[in-house]
Parts: sequence; structure tokens; C-alpha cells
Amino acid sequence: MTIPSITSKLPQVGTTIFTVMSSLASELGAVNLGQGFPDYPMSEELIGLVDKAMRKGHNQYAHMHGLQSLREVLAGKIEYLYGTSIDPATQITITPGGTYAIYTALTTILQPGDEVIVFEPAYDSYIPNIEINGAIPVRIPLRYPDYGIDWNIVRRSITPRTRMIMLNSPHNPTGSVLREDDIAELRALVQDSRIFIQSDEVYEHLIFDGVPHQSILRYPDLLARSFVSFSFGKVYHCTGWKLGYSVSSPGLMAEFRKVHQFNCFSCHTPSQVALAEYLTDRSSYLGLAPFLQGKRDYFQDLMRATRFTPLPSFGSYFQLYKYDRISNEPDKDFAIRITKEYGVAVIPVSAFYTSGKDDKVVRFCFAKKEETLQRAVERLRKI
Ligand code: PMP
Ligand code: GLN
Repeated sequence: MTIPSITSKLPQVGTTIFTVMSSLASELGAVNLGQGFPDYPMSEELIGLVDKAMRKGHNQYAHMHGLQSLREVLAGKIEYLYGTSIDPATQITITPGGTYAIYTALTTILQPGDEVIVFEPAYDSYIPNIEINGAIPVRIPLRYPDYGIDWNIVRRSITPRTRMIMLNSPHNPTGSVLREDDIAELRALVQDSRIFIQSDEVYEHLIFDGVPHQSILRYPDLLARSFVSFSFGKVYHCTGWKLGYSVSSPGLMAEFRKVHQFNCFSCHTPSQVALAEYLTDRSSYLGLAPFLQGKRDYFQDLMRATRFTPLPSFGSYFQLYKYDRISNEPDKDFAIRITKEYGVAVIPVSAFYTSGKDDKVVRFCFAKKEETLQRAVERLRKI
């Protein structure tokens, strides 16, 4: 019998850097400040609510669009935070994580040959998600070192085939955030076009120094052409839950749900029941920014004793550092070397560029216990 061979749909894709660095960290027993996940416990209250939901029998399929009561609470939260009224029945779908929400949005919109503007460094799922749909990523570098968007380059990159712009604020890996003038530029660019927007806002609540989050949800005219995606796992310190949601206009969401219904159909019920109750208390999300800002500040203070140089981080749970006072190695070599020699795993930012562009910058995740950050910095001081 001959086994047929496969033609890869993603021939360029290897193993994601997050898995590579986490595996190396665990193999070597290094402190893992690489992959973005907290090492402190999630809310006991939320765990209790999941337990309660399971014991009360909420263990069968949820509604395909997500639990109605959770969608209602989310619509209330959106109105409260961003002043926009959302219909939970037609505009919100609960998904198994933010990554899935992005994939589904792209699959809903894209036809082979469409062009998608994607800013690099970019979260590493974006470009494979574009390519698997037969579409063409048009990569635009963010401006070094503030990692803002150069809208002149965006304007020059638009063609009749441009179908989508992908945004991410607060931004992974850089911690940069969109400002009001970015939204004005975006609006001017798309208003008379056939361009849709995919806005990845998984770090929505993790934004610091009083800077307001420029969610696309604030702008109904932009929301009419957007999918805006979120992750419960990211903000509630339970990345392993893989639960999120997407918000859009009713027309776009109806198409999104066609893709979703035969891919995943519905998501984990007890967590949705639990979150519906947990989110009725606004402190469940209003307390997140000061909590993470405290971690960023704590980490930055410790890092002053090292030879790393920080770049600003306004949000997410990441902090970039230059290492030019230490070495001029390529960032991947540097990241692997410090993991092996000093026992601290970080992520090289070139992994977020398909070209491998190397700003000689590495990413640290500061969503960790104080003792973990201390242990890491004790080692980093020796470099
Ligand atoms: N987008 C960005 C920018 C992220 O950092 C993450 C975190 N992995 C996600 C999306 C996806 O989150 P989830 O784990 O819910 O799929
Ligand atoms: N978003 C996380 C990060 O940037 C990792 C997610 C993943 O491992 N796919 O570290």
C-alpha cells in the first residue's frame, strides 16, 4: 500500500517560538520569562464558580453563539467601557480563544489573492492565518523604537486588492498602544474603501499609566467593518482555558458564525456560566490594569541593576529590552545563549518578523510572581 504524500499548506511554517523557548526552559530548568502566561494563581472565586456551574449540571453543549447570559454581560461591559450599544444576540460570539477568533474572522472575509496589511513585529499566528486562506500578507514594519504605525507607509501600500488591515493594541510583543490620532488616520484610510479590520484586543484591560484603550468598539462606524477579538484566558490569568470572543456588526457576525458552527460549534459551558457571574462585578476587570502595571514597574525596577536597556511598555504583559550594552549577537542566538548559560528564557523579537528583521531586542513576560521576577533578575545581573 502506498501512503499518499501531502502538499503542505504552510510550507514555510516551523514550530512557534513560544513552544521552542518554553521547551528549552523546562529542559534546562530555566526561569521562563518567554512565553506569555502568568505563573501566579487565577481567581479562587472564578474557580469556585466553575465548580458550582459543573455541580449544578451546566455540562452540556452551550448555545452555538455562546451562553446568552455571558453575551449579555459582555454587551453591558462594552456599553459601560466604550459607550457603544451592542446586540448580544447578533454581534457577539464566544470562541475557543482569541487566536481562533482571529482565524475565523480572516476565514470569513478572505478570498484567494486578497491582500492583508499586517504590521510587524506581529503575533505569530497572523501571517499563517492569512496564507492558509490563499490571501497575501502585506507586511509593514512598525517604527523602531516606539513601534508606532507609520500611516504614510500604510497609505502607499493600499492597492485595489487590499481587503483587510490587522491591528493589535495593546501590542504583543512591544507593549505599544494605539492613540486617538491613529484611529483618525485609520478612519480616513478605510471610510470609502472595501477594507475590513481585524482588531486583536486580547490585552484590552492590561494598559498602563492612565492611557485609554482605543478599542475599535468605541467607534461604531469602524465596528461596522471590523471583527474585534478578545481572550478571557489572557486577562483572567488562565491562558489554558482557551476561551475568548469576537464582536462585530450583525451582518459580518452572521457570516463568521457560518464558519464557526462547523469548526468548533460551541465552547466549554461551565467556564461560560462562571464568567457570566464573575463579570457582573466590575472590579473583576477594573482591577487588572493597576495589578499588571504594578508587575511592570516591579520588574523594571529590578532590571535597573542589569545592563539591559528598556523600551517603553504601555500595555500587554510584555516588556522589551535592548541588549546592545551586552552583545551584538543576533537576538535568537542571544536568547538561546542566555537561556543556556544564565537560566532565563526570553523571546527574540525577530521571531515576530517573517523577514527575520533583527532589532536586537528581546521580550520579557512580567506576568509572574515577584519571587520569579527576582530569581530571573538575580541571574540577569550576572550578564
Ligand atoms: N493575540 C495576541 C496578540 C496574543 O498575544 C494572544 C495570546 N496568546 C492571543 C491573540 C490569543 O489568545 P488565546 O490564548 O485566547 O488564543
Ligand atoms: N501569546 C503568547 C505569547 O505571546 C503565547 C501564545 C502561544 O503560545 N501561542 O507569548
